[in-house]
Amino acid sequence: MPEGYKYHRVLLKLSGEALMGDTGYGIDPKVVDSLVKQIKEVVDDGVQVAIVVGGGNIFRGLAGSASGMDRAQADYIGMLATCMNALALQDGFRHAGLESRVMSAIEMKQVAETYIRGRAIHHLEKGRVTIFAAGTGSPYCTTDTTAALRALEINAEVLMKATKVDGVYDSDPMKNPDAVRFDTISYKDILANELHVMDSTATSYCMENGMPMIVFDLTVPGNIKRALQGENVGTTIS
Ligand code: UDP
Repeated sequence: MPEGYKYHRVLLKLSGEALMGDTGYGIDPKVVDSLVKQIKEVVDDGVQVAIVVGGGNIFRGLAGSASGMDRAQADYIGMLATCMNALALQDGFRHAGLESRVMSAIEMKQVAETYIRGRAIHHLEKGRVTIFAAGTGSPYCTTDTTAALRALEINAEVLMKATKVDGVYDSDPMKNPDAVRFDTISYKDILANELHVMDSTATSYCMENGMPMIVFDLTVPGNIKRALQGENVGTTIS
């Protein structure tokens, strides 16, 4: 275990929106830069970091099907969007001198390795940031579900969900100034109170398999390190 850290292997879920910053669409290089710095800090200390990246900043299957597309076809476009984000992140890591690998659930040999669990674990053990792209490879899923699955598959000790707010609240803090933040909460209470932290499939995977999750604000520099060292920077769900 790296000294001073509570967790040694982590799965970080980054939504497409997190990468978008305030730009409204696509990828904000400033966000990628700051994220890469935060991740480099902990990888240099010996923490193994895997990432599941979303695609909502480029394309969402549900939005496509709402405008008349075949849902599965639209979901495949969504999955390809996650691959673009993964490649952009990898480029950021390369600039920072950090080794990383993109592993895609949909085969695309020219640009990414195909996801193989054992190889992913091997990359992590070698200190390479391992970015999982193309979701689960199946339509009708989300990248939150992918994050829960991959976290379990690679034996991550914690799933960290990066958001723009600093945890889970009893109501939407953007709309209700009196919203109260939870320091800790159980998956059962998340489901019972219909708190929208992740979709219900992802929540069930984590709950049934005892995968703890930290919801935290990515935009505060140093938060990834603090959370991995066990500091209370958001909400811990267990
Ligand atoms: N998607 C999918 N299967 C998966 C993961 C993702 O079909 O296993 C598609 C789905 O259309 C989704 C899109 O990819 O809308 C982008 O992922 P998501 O919406 O989860 O991204 P985020 O909200 O995290 O940016």
